Amino acid sequence: MNDIEQVMQNALDAFNSYKTLSPAKRAQFLYETAKAIEEARETLVPIAHEESNLPLARLNGELTRTTNQIKMFARLLEEGSWVEAAIDTADKDRTPPKPDTRKMLLPVGPVVVFGASNFPFAFSTAGGDTASALASGSSVVIKGHSAHAKTSEKVFEAMQKAVQRAGVHPFTVQHVLGSGSTVGKALVLHPFTSGVGFTGSFNGGRALWEYANQREQPIPVFAEMSSINPVIFFDGTLQQNAPSLAKTYAASITLGMGQFCTNPGLLIAVQSEALDKFLTHLGKEIEQVLPQKMLHSGIHSSYNKGLNQVLAQKGIEKVGESAQQPGEDEAFPTVAKVKAGIFLENPHFHEEVFGPYSLAVCCTGKEELKKVLKQLKGQLTTTVMATDEDIAANGDIIDLQTNMAGRIILNDVPTGVEVCASMVHGGPYPATTDARFTSVGTTAIKRWVRPVCFQGFKDGMLPEALKNGNPLKIWRIVNNEWTNSAIGQ
Ligand code: NAP
Repeated sequence: MNDIEQVMQNALDAFNSYKTLSPAKRAQFLYETAKAIEEARETLVPIAHEESNLPLARLNGELTRTTNQIKMFARLLEEGSWVEAAIDTADKDRTPPKPDTRKMLLPVGPVVVFGASNFPFAFSTAGGDTASALASGSSVVIKGHSAHAKTSEKVFEAMQKAVQRAGVHPFTVQHVLGSGSTVGKALVLHPFTSGVGFTGSFNGGRALWEYANQREQPIPVFAEMSSINPVIFFDGTLQQNAPSLAKTYAASITLGMGQFCTNPGLLIAVQSEALDKFLTHLGKEIEQVLPQKMLHSGIHSSYNKGLNQVLAQKGIEKVGESAQQPGEDEAFPTVAKVKAGIFLENPHFHEEVFGPYSLAVCCTGKEELKKVLKQLKGQLTTTVMATDEDIAANGDIIDLQTNMAGRIILNDVPTGVEVCASMVHGGPYPATTDARFTSVGTTAIKRWVRPVCFQGFKDGMLPEALKNGNPLKIWRIVNNEWTNSAIGQ
């Protein structure tokens, strides 16, 4: 059913019911969702494999990650303190008298989630955006990705089982398929939509953000879009272990045929013998990587277009490419290099080429390296490969990196995103549309809530989280002090 008017009316009706459920009841629904998806594993994984070309082992791991992150949000609800309850009790004796004010986070309303093509489970139908929105108390309308429409429908079927088993409103989660520019646009423009979650291309995310801001009442769009994840190599590290670093980085650049938003697309270093040696090793490692099919033909043709465009630029030199020519819809792993002076002059080198490609930027010295960093746009991640001495001597570079990205990594690869409370999978524009939030980890829930202050309400009228007796036993700030005790005890 793609009658958007009806879908959004259903979503609003569901929201008005679902938001009143206790945190325990919402947690039960999330546990049932994880269980139903787990039960459908044998059906889901082969379908996702057929639709996405991703290996079965990867998809099995991704499904486990998906159900684990749903359960993580259930546990967050059970613990309960995420609502950030703050209470300032009244003081009649103050001049003027101080009122009783109590604040907590409440769900925003129906949320529209656009599934991502590169994670058919973990960032799609029942992925992190959906799980965090459902945890917040918002109802969700999923716009399934056409590249894995069958997988999306089957995951939704499993979610429907959970809806029935937990006895939540039947339209708490809805699923629509169709073109982004018609169905997707109509969902974002609908006045009942209160927030949007998206992972995908810069053009797609930017278009959704523009629709949302054209509305009579603009709404937030949390779009995770484009990032080239610059990695800085200091000379000491390159001198110590160029061959093993090259192996590690070749694996990261080509992991999942480079179809990760945290793919290391830019390798930056000061020109040296150690850098030359590292690049020679990296080229040899890349030669050994076999081309593989990409997620869908659209991604494949945009990779080829982007790669050919960048390789046609003046001053670029190939470092290495797969020794095997690609077949149909297969990506051709490639690493190239360019001098920083040329990089700085040509914006083509700064754009994301989504796939198994990375560009090494060779700088004449530290000042030029800093110029390169200053010219880069916002990123999801940036990495520094350095000794302790390098870090101590290069605080200015680390500072530039910290300003640029949501996550800064020391002596590791950016691919691989831990799902936990401390994770930030976000970053300044164009990595995302709002650098204050993350789409991975428990704090992803903060995208779908707003603070509401209750002033002068009697205890019996307040939400559980704000009552004097603290029946949920959560941590709260009461008269400027953290406590999980009841008020008056
Ligand atoms: P996409 O083209 O941005 O599509 C993602 C979702 O947004 C789809 O449901 C799509 O609808 C919808 N959409 C796209 N443009 C829209 C518009 N103008 N208005 C409304 N809805 C719109 O992403 P993709 O298919 O996953 O991959 C395409 C490219 O995105 C890749 O080549 C790559 O460059 C980039 N990408 C980046 C990341 C990242 O994390 N940085 C991740 C994945 C992909 P349809 O069903 O109509 O297409």
